Amino acid sequence: MPALKLLKLPPPVAESWEWQMHAGCRDVDGSLFFHPDNERGEARENRLAAAKRVCGQCVVRTQCLEYALDSGERHGIWGGLSEDERTRMRRAERRRPIS
Ligand code: SF4
Repeated sequence: MPALKLLKLPPPVAESWEWQMHAGCRDVDGSLFFHPDNERGEARENRLAAAKRVCGQCVVRTQCLEYALDSGERHGIWGGLSEDERTRMRRAERRRPIS
């Protein structure tokens, strides 16, 4: 079997994830950003609001949201948007006419 030849080395992984070093949620309990099973009503609204307050102060919010949209993250709050909000955003993007 012939040896594989790498034409180009992949970029350092840390470079793509460097923004996470500045994440406003680094020292926050991750469960704030992901809903537990069967969470409904006021409990859910309160958790979402608390997570969004953290995101609202985050200096890498744009990068976080871009990552979530690009990678198709289906769960959790990313870039200050919930799963449902990201889904609506993707649908709106698809409906937008190409200029
Ligand atoms: S935008 Fe929110 S979820 Fe994303 S890194 Fe910042 S604090 Fe964390």
